[in-house]
Amino acid sequence: MTTQTLSLEDRIAARPGDFRVLTGDRPTGPLHLGHYFGTLRNRARLQHSGVDLVVVVADYQVLTDRDVAERLVPTVEGLILDYLAAGLDPDRATIFTHSAVPALNQLVLPFLSLVSVPELQRNPTVKDEIAHSRQSSVSGLMFTYPVHQAADILFCKGNLVPVGQDQLPHVEVTRTVARRFNERYGPVFPVPEALLGAAPLLLGTDGTKMSKSRGNAIALSATADETARLIRGARTDADRHITFDPQTRPEVSGLVQLAALCLDEDPHQVAATIGAAGAAALKRTVTEAVNEFLAPMRARRAAYAQEPGLVRDVQRAGNARANAVADQTLLEVREAMGTRY
Ligand code: ATP
Ligand code: MG
Repeated sequence: MTTQTLSLEDRIAARPGDFRVLTGDRPTGPLHLGHYFGTLRNRARLQHSGVDLVVVVADYQVLTDRDVAERLVPTVEGLILDYLAAGLDPDRATIFTHSAVPALNQLVLPFLSLVSVPELQRNPTVKDEIAHSRQSSVSGLMFTYPVHQAADILFCKGNLVPVGQDQLPHVEVTRTVARRFNERYGPVFPVPEALLGAAPLLLGTDGTKMSKSRGNAIALSATADETARLIRGARTDADRHITFDPQTRPEVSGLVQLAALCLDEDPHQVAATIGAAGAAALKRTVTEAVNEFLAPMRARRAAYAQEPGLVRDVQRAGNARANAVADQTLLEVREAMGTRY
């Protein structure tokens, strides 16, 4: 069989050393179950199977949908603890903040020249985020951050991007940037592939995408009591009988899916077991399943939080490694573009 006919998972399993994962998160709040089942679990799994893992804490991109980035220091530290709690190995992962890597950011300028304004305006995820934005007017960063994301991925020649569904249009922008750069200036970049998780679009307690910024998320670091309260307050609908039907019953089906993912069961089966017992029984099932699933992660997080200097060391080492890689890539880019005088 040629490599062309193998699935992405098969190609990774056959040659994990050929892959470098680049993915990341905005430091806008604690990581939640949507992150875990959308991307984090894949990151940990890939790392343990021998794939090189680079994770960007996308601090500049906090400013896409708000005027000022607040409480960045504690939020970034919390994010790193969430990564470690979710199973990322601090000794082997490169975890960095993109604002600390100047050469990465310099790639944004040539990359912007490779995409048109209508292409940027058509991006469906950007349009959705504008609809949910707290800003009265849309900033230039909102339209261009997918190109910044291309720099996040390509600075380290990442070729595998484990993400949730909302990121697919952005990975497509990165693929376009890589292809066009290579066509125009010669081969420098890989054309990366997206890898979706078990739940590419996990819904929150209001039946819309679980999201740090929408107040509908169950954080990995929430206490068992907070989790119970959030799930008790979750939106359901008037139909007492519990079914799994994401198209017509997003609120109830989102809760069923949460339980199913945590229990590693089929969602239709979970719904059928609850059936006529109704929403209160569903919420009890979800609460127990989530709390049991998250207990070991919460314990790991608490243990890592006790280690003095750990988060700072992870950041310092990650930023240093990312800077070395970005400096090298920028040299190659300038060489290819004829700007290395
Ligand atoms: P914000 O609301 O601040 O944008 P977010 O919750 O959308 O936060 P991001 O930092 O934008 O989180 O996304 C980080 C990664 O997690 C991306 O790969 C994204 O696709 C994935 N992700 C986020 N929310 C979900 C979700 N509800 N289901 C699946 N994947 C998700
Ligand atoms: Mg987001």
